Amino acid sequence: MKQVAIVTGGSRGIGAATARQAAQKGYAVCVNYRSDEKSAEAVVSQIQDAGGTAIAVQADVSQEADVERLFKTTDEQLGTVTALVNNAGILEQQMPVTEMDIARWQRIFATNVFGSFLCARAAIQRMSTFNGGPGGAIVNVSSLAARAGSPFEYVDYAASKGAIDTFTTGLSKEVAEAGIRVNAVRPGFIDTEMHASGGEPNRIERVKANVPLKRGGTAEEVAYAILWLLSDEAGYTTGGFIDIAGGR
Ligand code: NDP
Repeated sequence: MKQVAIVTGGSRGIGAATARQAAQKGYAVCVNYRSDEKSAEAVVSQIQDAGGTAIAVQADVSQEADVERLFKTTDEQLGTVTALVNNAGILEQQMPVTEMDIARWQRIFATNVFGSFLCARAAIQRMSTFNGGPGGAIVNVSSLAARAGSPFEYVDYAASKGAIDTFTTGLSKEVAEAGIRVNAVRPGFIDTEMHASGGEPNRIERVKANVPLKRGGTAEEVAYAILWLLSDEAGYTTGGFIDIAGGR
């Protein structure tokens, strides 16, 4: 059966590593991005140069019409999606909760939570064996922050990832009989551009010092786990979580 993967936020970081590894495993890959077209096209070129199949599709996952277009374009150009990686996510500047406004919470939840819901819904409609679909697998990219919290830093972000964990658990039970598995990864500190937005000056060093393995993780190390959860080797794993956090 033809394997088709959609990786949201595939233009950089964990998403780009996941898109590249998926192509190496034989998936035709849709690399979604919101604004960074150049980086998304670079990922597509890397995949094509290595003999794989990939397209880049701009879509803001928080927008219903964009998500419909993302999935329709994939249907037409690659075929029915069999794997979805809900990776697109945002983090804003460190801020005490007393200074946060509701617009910030709406932005964070719009991408991290509502976007994951919209993409999962579109994928399930296509994958469900009840609709004649091929079945499939979904991996949500949560965060260690969902379990550990991020006090005095990003409680909004941690809360959005907590919602993703609960969404993963409930959805996995709802769609199991339709032939769809739903799992999540919880990365700890991963060296990507997500941390480029700053925060307190020595924050990154402080976080790394608290990691038993004494370093940040790589995007590739997260992608390996995602690809395993998507694979048939994980065929009896649903509603599961893998922490990729250096022992934190
Ligand atoms: P990056 O900031 O490096 O990349 C984020 C990606 O998401 C980009 O491709 C960006 O595209 C895309 N994106 C953001 N908003 C949207 C949107 N509304 N619609 C579509 N695409 C969007 O992040 P990371 O690789 O570090 O993080 C990936 C995921 O891993 C996130 O969900 C994050 O919360 C999670 N995570 C990361 C950790 C870390 O330490 N890095 C730790 C734990 C979890 P564009 O540039 O075009 O906007």
